[in-house]
Parts: sequence; structure tokens; C-alpha cells
Amino acid sequence: MKPIVPFISTLPNEQIKHWIKVLSKKMPKEKIIKFSKVKKKDYENIKLAIVANPKPEDINKLNNLVWIQSIWAGVERLVSRFNDNTIKIVRLVDPEMSRTMSEAVLSWVLYLHRDMPFYKEQQNQCIWKENFYIKPSDKTVSFLGLGQLGKSSALKILNNGFNVCGWSRTKKKIKRIKCFTGEKGLKKILKITDILVCLIPLTKKTNYLLNYKRLSYLKKGASIINFARGRIIKTIDLVKHLNSGNIKHVVLDVFEKEPLPKKHVLWKHPRVTILPHISANTDYGTASLIVANNIKNYRRSGRIPKFVNTLKQY
Ligand code: NAP
Repeated sequence: MKPIVPFISTLPNEQIKHWIKVLSKKMPKEKIIKFSKVKKKDYENIKLAIVANPKPEDINKLNNLVWIQSIWAGVERLVSRFNDNTIKIVRLVDPEMSRTMSEAVLSWVLYLHRDMPFYKEQQNQCIWKENFYIKPSDKTVSFLGLGQLGKSSALKILNNGFNVCGWSRTKKKIKRIKCFTGEKGLKKILKITDILVCLIPLTKKTNYLLNYKRLSYLKKGASIINFARGRIIKTIDLVKHLNSGNIKHVVLDVFEKEPLPKKHVLWKHPRVTILPHISANTDYGTASLIVANNIKNYRRSGRIPKFVNTLKQY
């Protein structure tokens, strides 16, 4: 009999069906089924589950669960609920996602670099006026987070002629990228940044990392791209800096509450570009192959793939 692997998710039914179809194709020896279809008598035999935005109470029903494979890269909600290390949380690490994210970072860095929000606003007012051009080699793009997504994006930006800096928890050595750590390092990096890209996980330490005080360290007229999580930036503080002109523009793909409520002040703010959490979606094909390999290895060796460190929270 095939072992049951429940797919636990609050995604729309159509998406769940599609995930189960592609995952089953890659893992013919596993019985991957929607959690609601698993019989109660089978709960005790389940050692692993595949999850995408699961209800924690569903996970809690499986007493013998050893590990969960998320099909997302960001797992902060799971980490905050299952922080005692009894269930290991394996997040998705997919080179295709790094590629998509670095493509998104390049697109929006160039959008800011070539002053597209400014020219759009001029067009709205039928104004024909040239803005001063500054070349990439005279601009600094900095990354908060130099992990799977941050590092590949930083390298792409470096290849496009910008000066690049990065900030991480542990010290990094990356050719031609100035790397910083710690509170002092954060202050230093913010002071020299023209475009700040957030690709840092949401943890207790990074919650509201960019508050009024730290945002005020940014070089006057700097812009921000937040592709990480909404709570990395304190929105009211950000709006104050946008209103004063200290911060020129922000591109936001992530918000404290998603979808962003219709009446939210950010929607209509002239210095804000809103994206509906699309900078790097999970790719069905590559992700299902990675998940399948993780599960195949586990069945063969009993080894759980690299899991999230619940102390670090990422
Ligand atoms: P990752 O590989 O775990 O890298 C995280 C980076 O952040 C590492 O460089 C880490 O430092 C650094 N970091 C963590 N805590 C820190 C702290 N307190 N101070 C300084 N640096 C800290 O994560 P990833 O795969 O690159 O993903 C990053 C985030 O992107 C995810 O957590 C998720 O929120 C977001 N994401 C967004 C989308 C989207 O569509 N918008 C898609 C996927 C992911 P060390 O290197 O020293 O450990």
C-alpha cells in the first residue's frame, strides 16, 4: 500500500487539485491527497505532510508527524506556531525561485533607477521635462538579506553595473559586494544606499526592522523595494518619510494584511507602487521535483531535509 502524504492547505480548491496532480506525477509511490479526504484512522500512520498556508489545527491532528514540507520559501507563520522543534519545518529552496526573484529585483530596480514613477506622474500632467540621469556605477543598491534570494538578486544587480552592498546576520564574503552585519553595519549601509531591497525573513528580530529611526538613516531621496514580508517595515513610519520626501518611492509586494485593504492609505499614495505579492511565485514544475526528491531521499534514508532552525526562526 502506498504511504499517505496529506496536502494541507487553505489555497483555493483548483490550486490544491493542480498541486496534487503535479506532485503525484513526480511521486507515483506516494498517495498524495487533500487533508480533508484522509480518514481519521490513517492519521497515526502519517509521518510527513506537504503544506501551503495550512491551518495549524489540521497539522495538530497528526500526532506522529515528523516533518512538513512547505511549498513556499517564507515559513514565518509555521515557525511561530510550531517553535518547539517537535515537527521539523522544511521550506522550499528552489533555484528557479531565486532566478524569478532576481528578475523581479532587476525589473523594479531599473524602474526606480530610470525614474519611471516620476515620468508617469509627468505624463499624467502633460509635462515635458528631463530629469537628471545618474548612471548605475554612481548608484548603490543594498540588500537586507543575502540568503538564497538576496544573494542571487545582488549578483544580478552587480552584473548590471551598480555598486552593491548587503547586510546579513552572519558576516559574508562575496566578491565585489560590500557586506555588513549588526546594528552598526545596518546604519552604515542605510547611509550609502540609493535603492534598498528587502529580502530578509520575518522573525522576532526583523519585525519592524525598518522603523522611523532606521528609515531616517537612509540617504535622502533613497527608494525601497520590499519583496520580503510586510512587517519588515513599519508602515506609518514609512508614510511619514514618504510624505516628507526623505524617501522618494517604495515598491511594495508584501503587506501586513494581504490583500491590502481597499481603503488603505498606501493604494493612492503617489510615491508608492503596489504589487499583489507576485515577485517570485512558486513554480509548479521545479518545486514539485524538489519536494519529490526530498521525500524520495527521506523514504530511502530516513533523513529529513535541511529544516528551519526554530531558534533563529528561519
Ligand atoms: P534565506 O535563504 O533564509 O536568507 C535569509 C537572509 O536574511 C540571510 O542572509 C540571513 O543572514 C538574513 N537574516 C536573517 N535574519 C537576520 C537578522 N536578524 N539580521 C540580519 N540578517 C538576517 O531566505 P530567502 O530564501 O533568501 O528568502 C528571504 C525571504 O523572502 C523569505 O523569508 C520570504 O519572506 C521572502 N519571499 C518573498 C517572496 C515574494 O513573492 N514576495 C517569495 C519568496 C520569499 P545569514 O545569511 O547570516 O543567515
